[in-house]
Amino acid sequence: MPLSSLVVADLVGAADLALSNRLRQLIQNRADALVAAFYETLLAHEEARTFLHHSVVQERLSPSLRNWLVDLFAPGADLAEAAFIARQMKIGEVHARIKIPMHLVMAGAAVLKTRLADDLADDPAAFDLLRLADQRIDHALRLMSQSYEKGASNRARLDEAYRLFSLDQDIHFERESQRAGLMEWSQKTLFRILGSGGVDGAGALGASPFGLWIRHRADFLFDGSPHLARLNATMERIDSELLPRFTPDAAPADLAAPLKALEAAVEEVAFLLNEMFQGLAGMEGGRDPLTRALNRRFLSSILSREIGFANANHTPLSVLLLDVDHFKRINDTHGHPVGDEVLRQVAEAVTENVRPSDFVFRYGGEEFLVVLVETSLHQAATIAERMRLALAAKAITAAGLAPFNVSVSVGVAEHYGHPDENYLIKSADDALYRAKQNGRNRVELDRRGA
Ligand code: GH3
Ligand code: MG
Ligand code: MG
Repeated sequence: MPLSSLVVADLVGAADLALSNRLRQLIQNRADALVAAFYETLLAHEEARTFLHHSVVQERLSPSLRNWLVDLFAPGADLAEAAFIARQMKIGEVHARIKIPMHLVMAGAAVLKTRLADDLADDPAAFDLLRLADQRIDHALRLMSQSYEKGASNRARLDEAYRLFSLDQDIHFERESQRAGLMEWSQKTLFRILGSGGVDGAGALGASPFGLWIRHRADFLFDGSPHLARLNATMERIDSELLPRFTPDAAPADLAAPLKALEAAVEEVAFLLNEMFQGLAGMEGGRDPLTRALNRRFLSSILSREIGFANANHTPLSVLLLDVDHFKRINDTHGHPVGDEVLRQVAEAVTENVRPSDFVFRYGGEEFLVVLVETSLHQAATIAERMRLALAAKAITAAGLAPFNVSVSVGVAEHYGHPDENYLIKSADDALYRAKQNGRNRVELDRRGA
């Protein structure tokens, strides 16, 4: 963060201690009024309203905003301190997760500044105080937007990865046809070279169906892959350097070296193509190989999309968090492979008890998170109970062992409008914790809706 540190060094050096003490006093005294002004103004703003209107947000955001202000102007607040920077970056991350556009954050900051300026209208030191306040607020905003951008782009990447995964396109087919496309070009080119000795522009690899596919699809499929850059460079080298070496009047003896170079280059393209598809196959890690449950890395993409859907359509949405009881004992008694087998069968039972439109994630080692779309807390509780009973009654089978039973504890929570998916997960996690506390093999509901 060289830029931020630079600005801070400058700012701290320039800040007059007396002035910053006054500013701190001022913020302390007016924090509540500033927070109130923030809400009043932003709630009147239609776009901002959609993020703020929810009561839980107000309950939580008001104190957070107040704390943020006080923190920003705290005595001896060291704006270059790592912990301070981390706090601002964290806020930016949350904004990115909730998808609050940065311009609304800026609008919020502008409200605070304006309000502060109004308050100081008659103060002789107004100019210096406001300048100091501006510097601090802007510094925090810079840090926030830095992490916001990073968070938003990571998110976009994951959303895209999920989209590709969910398209469920036949990657295998795509891979085979492109590999065949490259081979076909290579053979055709070889015949041309051996037949007439020359290849014109129309015969370039870039002009072939393979080249076309690379230009228009590979970018999309292998976004950001370093292999793709190399592949493009090699393709370019083939067309502009290697092919022109074959002239129609070349003697067969002169062809040997260029042919060898061409062959090596084509092999490299094939290798890179293979590597890239291999990477995509790794992305088939959309599912956990052991349980076939969805990979946790897609949880955020899916849950935030479902939260958006629920908010837009006023449909209910719930999640279950399941944890196998005393799972460690199973591992300890029968060994890890049996533990794995239990997990597989638990996941099977979980999946059997939800609809195809629901999402079952492997959330942790022996924890599953289920997203139940268009499902209220009450319905989710019924489903959870059904699942718990089905699991408790299920005979788990493992090689060499008599059938045995396991139980699960379940926490259930409904989405009540809060835009942050972590908040919903946390609610289910709290309920799960209570289920464990209250003796396991049971379902507990989030209490917020009670
Ligand atoms: P509780 O009822 O409180 O949940 O007790 P527990 O023993 O289930 O809880 P704990 O979280 O202590 O144990 C979870 C264990 O799950 C610990 C870890 O070794 C095991 N585990 C995590 N992932 C896997 C896996 O993929 N396979 C197997 N066999 N075991 C796993
Ligand atoms: Mg656990
Ligand atoms: Mg457990």
